[in-house]
Amino acid sequence: MGKFSPVAQAPRYMQSFQCVGSACVENCCTGWQVSIDKPTYQKYQAIRIEPLASLLRQHVHKNAGSVAAGASYAAITLKTGQACPFLDEARLCQIHAGLGAQALSNTCSQYPRIYTLEGTQAGMAASLSCPEAARLALASADAVELDSITLPFANLSLVPFNRRAGPVASAEPDLVRRHARLLREALMAVIKHPALNAAQALVVCGLMLRQVAKVATDVRAQGGDTLAADQGLSDAFEQYLNPDFLAHAAGHVQGLNIPRQLQASLLMGATQKFLVDHGGRPSFRELIAEVQTGLGLDSAKGEQRLAAFDAAQPHVLKNYLLNSLFITMFPRNDTAALESDFMALAVRFALIKFYLQALASRPDQAFGLDECVRVTYVVARNIEHNHRFMPMVLQSLKDNDALRMEVLATLVG
Ligand code: SF4
Repeated sequence: MGKFSPVAQAPRYMQSFQCVGSACVENCCTGWQVSIDKPTYQKYQAIRIEPLASLLRQHVHKNAGSVAAGASYAAITLKTGQACPFLDEARLCQIHAGLGAQALSNTCSQYPRIYTLEGTQAGMAASLSCPEAARLALASADAVELDSITLPFANLSLVPFNRRAGPVASAEPDLVRRHARLLREALMAVIKHPALNAAQALVVCGLMLRQVAKVATDVRAQGGDTLAADQGLSDAFEQYLNPDFLAHAAGHVQGLNIPRQLQASLLMGATQKFLVDHGGRPSFRELIAEVQTGLGLDSAKGEQRLAAFDAAQPHVLKNYLLNSLFITMFPRNDTAALESDFMALAVRFALIKFYLQALASRPDQAFGLDECVRVTYVVARNIEHNHRFMPMVLQSLKDNDALRMEVLATLVG
């Protein structure tokens, strides 16, 4: 690594992450669109070595029209369940074999890594749609502790950042942008609190964020007094990070009446609608078939079994939440989508927990970390790589008036 190689903050599991290649239970070169960045597309256009040149012309297509911000320049489009056309019989990549690792697109060379930039601070974490990343991230209590990792790029300008927020000016008017780092630390502190399990911590985080978003919106509507906004943020932290409050928060959340029938019908209804409308990947369909078997059995048993696992290994579901904060909520540029991003995170968690509970209801089947890893990466694959899944689930919850903080406890409880 070079003299100017950037150093990123990254969860500890990234130190040991390595693609397991042909040993992978669900290879990432199957069944989704592979984004190709512009420089890579142009490089591929210039290739004249056969048969690779013909394969590249046949399978790499430039996206039509002007490319919207965040959209890919070109793509290798794969049908559900279909392997990448560049894999040979030994399932090795022919682009890599013929042209070297430097010829791979950012997506192919970097997946499942997600890079963030906040001011001048780089960050890195992994999408848990990769089974190996999910295994490492969920397996140990310290897997998501943040460490400094030197990135394999000669300088910061070469890192393919997925999310970025510029430096914060001292007069920055948006409360959330001004204190995004503090807010992230506060959410992490709640999630890590030993008196709360992941679901309870999520409810407390939701209440705190709702208060912060309200302060930011109210102060802006009244002319934008930054001192008043800072005081409002400090009050929210004082209330929700208060040790006495946190010590008793689990009891409050546990005392909520969770209508299980409503929870099951909302989450399973949204899942089934997606399956009918869009199919889903084979691993998702398999998982849902098992979930349906579990739903027909003793749900109280599943609840107890999952609760016992969660009590013995609380870091598993908490690590999922912490990793999700790193890759979907921060860095932030403003208050605007704070609550909706959080609701999307909460719904993903609710789906994972709901599927796990159904799997745990099957008394004759093993239940533990392996099932958590499987459900996490299967859900992440369908959600992160199918842009229709989350909007559909969120719309379905909205139609049922369930996309509110008050209903959050019902969904994740
Ligand atoms: S999903 Fe992860 S472990 Fe599997 S082939 Fe892709 S990068 Fe490697």
